[in-house]
Parts: sequence; structure tokens; C-alpha cells
Amino acid sequence: MIQDGAVLIRDGILVEVGPSRRVENLAQARGAIEINAAGRVVMPGFIDAHTHLAFPPAGIHAEDSSAAVRAVHTATRQRLEIRTRAYIDAMARHGTTTAEVKTGCGLDAGAEAKLLRVLGALRDEPLELIPSFLLRLPGGLNGGSLQAIEWVVAELLPKIRRRGVSYFADLAWDCNPALLACFDRYMGAARQLGFGLKIHADGESPGAAVGLGAQHHVASIDHMEHATASLAAQVAQAAIITTLLPSGPFSGDGREAPARALIDAGGAVALGSNFNPHDSPMFSMQTVMALACGRLGMSVEEAICAATINGAHALGCADRVGSLEPGKTADLLVLNAGHYGDLEHSLGTNLVHLTMKRGKFIYKEGEVAPLETNDFAPHR
Ligand SMILES: [Zn+2]
Repeated sequence: MIQDGAVLIRDGILVEVGPSRRVENLAQARGAIEINAAGRVVMPGFIDAHTHLAFPPAGIHAEDSSAAVRAVHTATRQRLEIRTRAYIDAMARHGTTTAEVKTGCGLDAGAEAKLLRVLGALRDEPLELIPSFLLRLPGGLNGGSLQAIEWVVAELLPKIRRRGVSYFADLAWDCNPALLACFDRYMGAARQLGFGLKIHADGESPGAAVGLGAQHHVASIDHMEHATASLAAQVAQAAIITTLLPSGPFSGDGREAPARALIDAGGAVALGSNFNPHDSPMFSMQTVMALACGRLGMSVEEAICAATINGAHALGCADRVGSLEPGKTADLLVLNAGHYGDLEHSLGTNLVHLTMKRGKFIYKEGEVAPLETNDFAPHR
């Protein structure tokens, strides 16, 4: 932490970071536009390392995933874009500057392609989206699973790769041992095509997922609510990042991932909102961090690392974002807080004063109008 610090930004890139007195006196700082952040915290923008931003869509009144897939087919691409864009804007207001986004329409190529195209159109504006293709095998498909995987490997993945619409191939874990060979085939093929890999391990017995993940050098294993302390040690040993989602228990069964065991064993933990428009519409990384402290026993410093640089590593973009260092993109926040420790208790509040992405403000805190001179009122 730098008390009375400054950053110098040019063309969207951090040029210098250090004590104000030094940075202000640099020749390069002459003529710079000054943004006063006195009394406030300046920190890296949040990296939300796990979201389901566009799927399942809002407004479905059933739990079955076929209804969600149908909703993707029925909605126009424009409508899906407008809805998703509204969530993206809300994320920016709460300080997220980079977010991973998963598909997960099951084995429906049309719906998958449509979602990925929507995410592709929204990829850079105003925050950075990192799309992941999420393979979800529908239940009861056991007999046809290998066949389905062959189709995914031979047709779907290469198509997605050619279009460049997804960086990661993710896998919705199922602990049925009969599926292990299918999953191994999928991960091997995806890796060969150049995808980064992830495992979405929200179910019971994630032990085999960790084994497969280590074998295929996954970028992260996510959820892990059912992991034991000894499995946590194994994950740490394998140097796999775990992306934890402490707001999950609002919609889940109250289980918590063993964050303390993971960190104490030397593992790297990232954080994500696990946002989805259907039944988990919570996108505030500040709330996620407060829950990581309150429920997972993480310190606020650990939560900040998890919500910034570790998240960037989990998304394979730590060379560009995730920390305030010369050479990195100027993705930063100015918080209405005198100390970063305030984030530990920021549950359901928004401390963000300014959000900057690539050196440009994508959000500025608005004023509350005095009632007397209220020009905003529609009827006077
Ligand atoms: Zn998830």
C-alpha cells in the first residue's frame, strides 16, 4: 500500500505508480490532467472470475434448463444484447472492469452459437468480457454421452475456435465415474484446439475433477463447495487456482468452500459473483469480498488479491490487468473509503466513486439532487 500515492497514465496504460511527490515531479507528468483522489482509496478494478451473465436468462419461471434454452431461441439477439448490456453497466457501476461469462445451454449448438455471438458483440464495451464455452451434459444421457462428446469435439469446439468467440472451454462437472472418460476426451481435445480449460465443480465429490484438472493443466477449478480440507491441500499442491463464489449459498444449500484450508496450504484463490439473471442476480464484487471475509474466513487483503490479481490469473490476463503496475492497462477504481479495510464490511453498499477502464472513466458517481432545485423531476 502506498500512502499518498499517485499513478501516471498515458494512452490507457499505467506509466508510473508511486508516492505522489515522486510521480508528480516526473518530466512525463508535465501537462498531465490531474484527477484528485485525496482521502480515497485507488485500487485495481475488480475481476469477476465467474459469471453466467447471459444464461439462464431472466424471466423463466421454471427450474428446467430446457425452458432456459427455449428462451434463448425465442429472444432476438438484439434483445439478449440489450438485457445483458444492462447487467454489464451495473457491474461497471460497482467496480468490475473484467468479467468472465459462461454459456451452458447444454448440447444445443444453435443456442450456444447465439449466446456466444451476443457475448462477442459486447466483448469490449465498456468492460472486458472473457467468454467461456460451458459444456453441460444433460442428465440421463449416459448411453449417448460419448457420442455427444464426439460431436462437441468434432463439430462444436472447432467452430467456436474458428470464430474466436470463446477463450475457455469449461466443463460442468458430474461425479458419475462413467463420464470420466468422456470428460477426459473433451478436455484433451479442447486443449489441443488451444482453449484454456476450466472445471465448474459445484456438485458432490469433486475429487476426480481435481485429478483431471491437474492432468490437463486447467486455469481454474470453480465452486468447490463440496471440497474437503484434504482435497484443498491437493489442489494447492497441484498449483491450480480455485475460483470461489461465496454468494452461492443464497441460492445453494449453505455449503461453503474451504477457503481457509486452500490458502493455508499455499493455494491461490480467486473470487467470482456467480451472477446469473435467473436466480442469482448479484453482481457486486464488493459484496462478494465482504462475504469472502465474513463467511469463508478470508482476510480483507486476501479477498482483495482474490478479486483482482488472482482473478486475472484465473482468466489468463494477469499480464494486462489485475494490479496497478507500470505497463499494465489503467483499469482502476477510486473508492469512497479512506482505507481498503472498509471493503470487509461493504455488504449491499457501493463504495465506488469512479471506475476507469483502459484510462477512460466508464462510471462516475452521480449526485443526489436537492429537492428544492430538482431539475430531474418529470412533473413540476
Ligand atoms: Zn457457476
